[in-house]
Amino acid sequence: MAGTTHNVTMIAGDGVGQEVADATKAILKAAGARIDWEDAVAGKKAFDAGIASGVPNDTIESLQRTRVALKGPLETPVGHGGKSANVTLRKLFEMYGNIRPCRELPNVQGPFAGRGIDLIIVRENVEDLYAGIEHMQSPGVAQALKLISRKGCEKIIRLAFELATSLGRKKVSCSTKANIMKLTEGMLKRTFEDVTKEYPGFETDHVIVDNLCHQMVIRPEIYDVVVLTNMNGDIVSDLTSGLVGGLGIAPSMNLGDEAVMFEAVHGSAPDIAGQDKVNPTALLLSSVMMLRHLGEFETADKVEHALYCTYEDGKALTGDIARGRPSVGTKKFTETVIANLGRNCSKLENRAFKPIKMPKVDSRLDFVQAKSRRDVGVDIFIESALMPEPMGKALDAIVEGTPWQLKMISNRGSQVYPVKAAAFDGIDHHRCRFYKRDGSGVSESEILDLLTRVGAKHRWIHLERLAQYDGVDAFSKAQGEN
Ligand code: NAP
Repeated sequence: MAGTTHNVTMIAGDGVGQEVADATKAILKAAGARIDWEDAVAGKKAFDAGIASGVPNDTIESLQRTRVALKGPLETPVGHGGKSANVTLRKLFEMYGNIRPCRELPNVQGPFAGRGIDLIIVRENVEDLYAGIEHMQSPGVAQALKLISRKGCEKIIRLAFELATSLGRKKVSCSTKANIMKLTEGMLKRTFEDVTKEYPGFETDHVIVDNLCHQMVIRPEIYDVVVLTNMNGDIVSDLTSGLVGGLGIAPSMNLGDEAVMFEAVHGSAPDIAGQDKVNPTALLLSSVMMLRHLGEFETADKVEHALYCTYEDGKALTGDIARGRPSVGTKKFTETVIANLGRNCSKLENRAFKPIKMPKVDSRLDFVQAKSRRDVGVDIFIESALMPEPMGKALDAIVEGTPWQLKMISNRGSQVYPVKAAAFDGIDHHRCRFYKRDGSGVSESEILDLLTRVGAKHRWIHLERLAQYDGVDAFSKAQGEN
């Protein structure tokens, strides 16, 4: 698209956001990038203006128009208050793929310097615990729903393979906690095993996420492209940023079919905001990815080489990278990168970048049908101050003379009635599992009758059906349950 001027929404963001946005705009302008910026607001400024979502309509409309955004950090209240405006933006535009490259820059000191780390974390960006569906089950017990869909897994895995194809990568790893969360995390692993068959040109493997963290600090150079669910990807990608020098140099992009948003991984760093200290490299590298997305390959190479030359020369490093060596401020760093435009850095391997072929995924609501389905029981979650034994006896009495029987009660996932756990340190949140005495299927009226009987004596919190799809249990067992 050489010769075209691109419209891009710029959300400078909070804290250090304006400084990194100004630096990036100045470097891109000096490099000759043809961009018309639409400045937009999100985060703190929007919350302060009383917009509960943190994302004003003007910003949404701008992104609908441009379909491309470059975004600085947005402040999110921690542990209270409004939802993250970042997550809102990603979700509103269904930007389901969060791509976080992690590549060594010259002259960045640290225990992993010189190891040739050059990997990409592909994080699912809209599902998992970040669906943000949380409830206080009782005044003392909180719950978050970890929602993982087959469709979501398929999209992110296909995106990982398409990204690997576009960048000429050789290996795609899938990392999960499927050994513990067999249904949710297991969904990513199973889908990976299925989709992998369609991409035979790649070396592939699966690694449990805790081992991945261990491997990342022992031999990170063995990884190329790694795909993970949302929360694991969030944590592991900050770890990998740390391997190559920290958040100040970690770029990212959020990919969806409707819009793409490029952003630094770091936050608003309020402790250094407004002091000419922030390192703008993360947003600048994000903008390099943006230029390639826009088809501006030459300008992207030019900016990347100037940045690498700046690091290789080592005379104008910001404090986070200099670490005791002489350092410069944001403005001087920016001027140096601009002065280096046109130079080539020998440390930067030239690569052939092809545009990513976005996976074609059916946009209709995914209504997955099992060949057969049967409800075989229910889990009723009850808030009660009773200990397991009297609780179990009380429920046994409630279902006496009905088609139901109490199979077991678990507390925080471990069976406590009939007694299993050797040590009990319980809470007022009991999962009570009921089956039919004769093993037959369960009807709606039987469920409602059971709930009415239980509800007459206890405060039930929620109910889960115990289903079998195609003859296979679609629920997990409690720890210790037979
Ligand atoms: P942070 O803003 O990333 O800052 C953590 C520390 O990392 C800073 O205090 C600073 O450390 C260093 N740092 C980060 N970026 C740097 C850069 N570009 N140059 C130099 N040093 C940098 O993380 P946080 O303190 O946990 O979060 C602050 C706010 O940002 C929160 O409201 C959080 O919700 C938000 N946040 C937003 C995003 C986003 O918009 N994508 C991401 C993460 C966090 P020193 O103390 O060493 O100077």
